[in-house]
Amino acid sequence: MRLILLGPPGAGKGTQSSRLEQKYGIPQLSTGDMLRAAVKAGTPIGLQAKAVMESGGLVSDEIVVGIIEGRIAEPDCAKGFILDGFPRTVAQAKALDAMLKRHHKELDAVIELVVDDQILLSRIENRAKETVAAGGAVRADDNPESFKKRLAQYHELTAPVSDYYRSVGELRTVDGMAAIDAVTAEIDAILGK
Ligand code: AMP
Repeated sequence: MRLILLGPPGAGKGTQSSRLEQKYGIPQLSTGDMLRAAVKAGTPIGLQAKAVMESGGLVSDEIVVGIIEGRIAEPDCAKGFILDGFPRTVAQAKALDAMLKRHHKELDAVIELVVDDQILLSRIENRAKETVAAGGAVRADDNPESFKKRLAQYHELTAPVSDYYRSVGELRTVDGMAAIDAVTAEIDAILGK
C-alpha cells in the first residue's frame, strides 16, 4: 500500500503514520525525521538544511525529492510506504508522480488530516510543555515564532498540494480534530480495513 498523509504541522500525521506502519508492516517515510537525522549526523544535506529548518522554512524541492527517491528504492519499501511530510509543494507532488510512473507504481490513497490553526497552535504549545516535563529536548522549530512560519508556509505552499490531489480525484479528507482513535478509525474506513 502506497499512501500519503497530508495536513498542517501538528495535525497528527506522525501519530497516525506510526499506527499505519504497525498495522500494514510498511515503513513511515518522514522527510522531517530524515532531515533531522541528517542535521544531527552533520551530513552535507544536514548542513544545508539546518538553518532553514530551524527558522521554519522549507528545504529545497531538489533535496527532499532526492531523499525520497533514494529511500523508496530500498527493499523495505517494496510492499509500500506511508509518506509523512512529503510532498509539501506541488513541484514535489509532480516529481513524485513522475518517480512512481518510472517505477510503474501507483498511489493507493492520499488522505488529508484537517485541523484549525488555533487548535494547532495550542497543540504545539502542549507538545513543547510535555516534552520539557518528560525531560526531553524540544524541537528547534517548535517555538511559537517558527511554528507560525511553518503554518504560513503550509497555507501558501502545501495547501495547493491538497488541491492538486483533489483535482485528480485522489484526495480524501479526515477530521483531524477528532480523538486520535476516531481519526484512526476514519483512516481505516477509507483504506477499507
Ligand atoms: P516535519 O517534521 O514534517 O514538521 O518537518 C520539519 C521541517 O523539515 C520542516 O519545517 C521543513 O523545514 C523540513 N521539511 C520536512 N519535509 C519537507 C519537505 N517535503 N519539503 C521541504 N522541507 C521539508
